[in-house]
Formats: sequence, C-alpha cells, structure tokens
Amino acid sequence: MGARRNSHKAEQLASDLGLHLDSKAKGTYLLLAKLDRSRQLCVGKLGIYPFPSGWYAYAGSAMGSGGLSARLARHLRAEKRMHWHIDYLLAAAELRASWHIVATARLECAWAGALMGLVNAQIIVRRFGASDCRCHAHLIYLGDGPRYQEISEVLASASRDQGIADALRLLTCTRY
Ligand SMILES: [Zn+2]
Repeated sequence: MGARRNSHKAEQLASDLGLHLDSKAKGTYLLLAKLDRSRQLCVGKLGIYPFPSGWYAYAGSAMGSGGLSARLARHLRAEKRMHWHIDYLLAAAELRASWHIVATARLECAWAGALMGLVNAQIIVRRFGASDCRCHAHLIYLGDGPRYQEISEVLASASRDQGIADALRLLTCTRY
C-alpha cells in the first residue's frame, strides 16, 4: 500500500497501480472498500452516521478533463482535502478494488441501482454521493465478503441495459 502516499502525478500513479488507462479516458467507476470495524463517521454536510463493519461499493463517474486515471488516483491517495462524500468513508476504510468502464454514457446511477439487487445490499446513508440525481444513494453496503465475480456480472448487466453491448469485455477490475 506504499503507493497510497505517492506524490507522483495522477497519471503516473494510475499507471503504477496497473490501471492501464489513457490519461484522458472518461467513464464510470466503482470503488470497493472495506471498513474493519463499525464506526461513527461524519459525512460532510450529511451529518454523522453509524457505519457497520464490512464492504462498501461506491459508484461514480469521471467525465472531466482529468478523466478516470486522475479520479481513481485521487481516490487512492491517502492525503487530500475532504471534498466528496466518499472522501470521508475512504479516510476510515481501505480501498481494495475498483472497476471501470470507458464510455461516454454516465452509468453510475444504473450501477448503484443494480447493486441493490445483491443479497444483503443496504443503503446506510441516504443521498450519499447522489446529490445531483434521483438515486437513493451511490454508496451501497454489501455486508460481508467482496464477491468480485458477482459484482462484475451485475455491473456488466446494468451497462448492457444502458446500451453498452460488449460491457463485460470493456469492464476492468483492479485489486489493490
Ligand atoms: Zn444516481
């Protein structure tokens, strides 16, 4: 996990992490993080919530100039100013994996909705990561176990429903 404190440029860090992304590639990503013990966490203006220990999935997209590599590198960096809701969770939890797909369509709402179909999926904080859409939340609590293959299949299926025919091939999972 030494790379977490890397001060290289975001692109270099993304490359070091094996993300193999074009520096300007835009798309949608999912983070999978593990919280080792139950904790009360402040989520910015949303307030303080009890977060049970276990696995959390967070869906987002990176359509700005930095693209996916800069965004994923930022999520992996330990030291940063708190800006997004997910920053507060990642200050306490350990990022274990990410999925990403390079596509111009924003898929994070579809992905978050689809993950709610997994066994034991729950929303812990309403509106978490979903300030600008009508989703209940973009952070889904998955209980115990990462179930990588199941998550890949759910994301690919949800992406196909959004018109990305070869979604399973385009979807990349990276473990940290
Ligand atoms: Zn949404």
